[in-house]
Amino acid sequence: MGSFKDVVGHKDIINYIRSAVEKDKVSHAYILNGERGAGKKLLANLFAATLLCEEGGPDPCNTCHSCRQAEGGNQPYDGQVAIGAVVMNRVKSPRYPGSIAEVIYAPGQFGPVSNGSIARYLGGPKASCMQAAQDAINGYTTIGSYTHFRRAGSEVGPDSIVIGSHVFY
Ligand SMILES: [Zn+2]
Repeated sequence: MGSFKDVVGHKDIINYIRSAVEKDKVSHAYILNGERGAGKKLLANLFAATLLCEEGGPDPCNTCHSCRQAEGGNQPYDGQVAIGAVVMNRVKSPRYPGSIAEVIYAPGQFGPVSNGSIARYLGGPKASCMQAAQDAINGYTTIGSYTHFRRAGSEVGPDSIVIGSHVFY
């Protein structure tokens, strides 16, 4: 999610927000008005993450459960670990290649590889994704030994678990 320090410009608004949080004088609603691409959504997301942060400071701490979930976008932290666990379960399985890179770059296996968007993620992965990946590498799994996943709602049989918008089986 980052921090208000990483935002270019908007210093008056940021000072106002941080001061409102520090003085515990946050209003019921705010309107962020401005041109497209001006950073309204970034500011709103940072503001929301700050308000929900379990540390209660004037910036999101980026390490508490709430901040990690905010950073994971629509995927909860458990879901990020789950994808990592799928990769690690495949590495361990004799039916798949034996390295993380070979598993991830196997043809047609992971959407971001197939559509090329992985390059964008590799440019600066989110801290929570790095943490989830490290946890999965260390052996943490939220999905047991499952090696597949699809969009939640797909037909996969009874032996499965849904986390976020994915079903693992
Ligand atoms: Zn936090």
